[in-house]
Amino acid sequence: MFKYESCTKCGACCKMVNLIGDVLPYKEDGSCKFLIEGANQTQICSIFEFRPNICRYGFFNTLLDTPISQENYLTLTQKQCIGFQEKFNIPQHLRLKNF
Ligand code: SF4
Repeated sequence: MFKYESCTKCGACCKMVNLIGDVLPYKEDGSCKFLIEGANQTQICSIFEFRPNICRYGFFNTLLDTPISQENYLTLTQKQCIGFQEKFNIPQHLRLKNF
């Protein structure tokens, strides 16, 4: 059972938007053009307030037969976070720790 851990703003989930077609503009490396460097090596969405539905928990929740809480959603998706953090060699201080 995974333990819920807050998003560390590593940005790994925004680094492969080229794989979803032309939904979002992306840089040559496949990462979203709206992803920018934040403090302490974090990655920040520069249009966070206006980000498209596909980037929002609420959007995914509308696709489910039985809606789940944001905490449960994040708990379920954290397994993917681990893989993405490995793939993109995210700095250790931004990696999820409870696994
Ligand atoms: S719009 Fe923002 S949240 Fe969505 S992929 Fe780009 S940087 Fe990430």
